[in-house]
Amino acid sequence: MSPKSKFACPISIAEVKETLFRIQDEVAFISGGTDLVIQLNSGQIKPAWLIDLSQIPELNYIKEVEGRLRIGSATTFTQISENSLIGEKARCLGQAAAQVGSTQIRNRATLGGNIAKASPAGDSLPALLALEAWVSILGSQGLRRVSFAQLLTENAAGLQAKELITEIDFPVWESQVETQIVSGFAKVGSRTTVTIARLNMAGSFEIDSRNGRIRGARWAVGALGQTPFRLEGLELELQGKTVNQDLAREIADRLTKAVDRAIPGRYSQEYKRQAIQGLGYDLLYDLFPEQMGVGR
Ligand SMILES: Cc1cc2nc3c(=O)[nH]c(=O)nc-3n(C[C@H](O)[C@H](O)[C@H](O)COP(=O)(O)OP(=O)(O)OC[C@H]3O[C@@H](n4cnc5c(N)ncnc54)[C@H](O)[C@@H]3O)c2cc1C
Repeated sequence: MSPKSKFACPISIAEVKETLFRIQDEVAFISGGTDLVIQLNSGQIKPAWLIDLSQIPELNYIKEVEGRLRIGSATTFTQISENSLIGEKARCLGQAAAQVGSTQIRNRATLGGNIAKASPAGDSLPALLALEAWVSILGSQGLRRVSFAQLLTENAAGLQAKELITEIDFPVWESQVETQIVSGFAKVGSRTTVTIARLNMAGSFEIDSRNGRIRGARWAVGALGQTPFRLEGLELELQGKTVNQDLAREIADRLTKAVDRAIPGRYSQEYKRQAIQGLGYDLLYDLFPEQMGVGR
C-alpha cells in the first residue's frame, strides 16, 4: 500500500460528503479492498487519500421497498448470496454472488466495488443487466440515478472522480398467477473457486403459466469484450416459444454467433464459441429441468 496515502474512516454518508468537501486532493474509495489493495500494492494507483466505506451502516442493507429490491453499495457478496429476499426474487444475482472468488473474497468484496471496478468479467454485472438494475450515485452536484445499462455504456462504469455509488435497485420480478419468473446465472472460469470468469451469463424469463411459453426474456453475457451486454435479438426471438431441446440447440447456435460478433479474431474466440454453448445449456437445464428432459 502506498505509504503516502492518508486514511479517512467515515461512519455515515454525511461524513463522506464532509470529507470529500474538505479534501482537494485525489481520493480513492476503499470498500472490501479486494481489487483496490492489489492496485495500491503494485503502485498502479497512488491516491493522496483513501476513504474507507466499510464502517457505514447506511451503505450496507438489502430491503424491499415499494416493489423494488434495494441493496446498499457496501453489501458484501456473502450477504447477497445468503439473503432470502435475493434468493426468492433475484436468484440470478444470488447465484452470481455465490460464485465470486472464494469465501474470503466474498466476505469482503462488495456489489458497489464490483460495479465501480467494471471488469468485463465482473460476475454481478450480467445479473444486474438481466434484472434491469439502476444505480444511485452521489457526487459534488448531489445524487443522480442512472440505469445500470447506461452506466456501462458510459465506459469504466461512467463514474466521475469522487463519485460514490450508494445504492443498487431493481424491480422485484415475482411470479404471479399467470406468469412464472425464473432467473439464473452460469459461469466458466480458468480455475474453479478463486477465479475471474472467462465467460458468464445471467438470464431472467417470464413464462406463461397456462401454456409454458416464454412471454419475455432478459439475457446478458459478460467477458465478451469491454462490457457485458444484453442479447436483445435473442430475447425477442424467444418470445412465444417453449423451451425444449430443439429450442436449446437454436439458442446454442445464437450464442455462438454472439461470440463471433463480439470478439472476431480474438485468440479466445474459438474457446468461447464452445464454452458459451455449454453455459447456455447449464442455464437452461438449471431453469427448465422438466422441459429439457432431465430425469426422463
Ligand atoms: C482472488 C480474487 C478473486 C476474485 N474473484 C472474482 C470473481 O470470481 N468474480 C468477480 O466478479 N470478481 C472477482 N474478484 C474481483 C473483486 O473481488 C470484485 O471486483 C469485488 O466486487 C470488488 O469489490 P471491493 O468491495 O473489494 O472493491 P474495492 O477493492 O474496495 O474497490 C474496487 C474499486 O471500486 C471503487 N469503489 C468501491 N466501492 C465504491 C463505491 N461504493 N462507490 C464508488 N467507487 C467504489 C474503489 O475506489 C476501487 O476503484 C476477485 C478478486 C480477487 C483478489
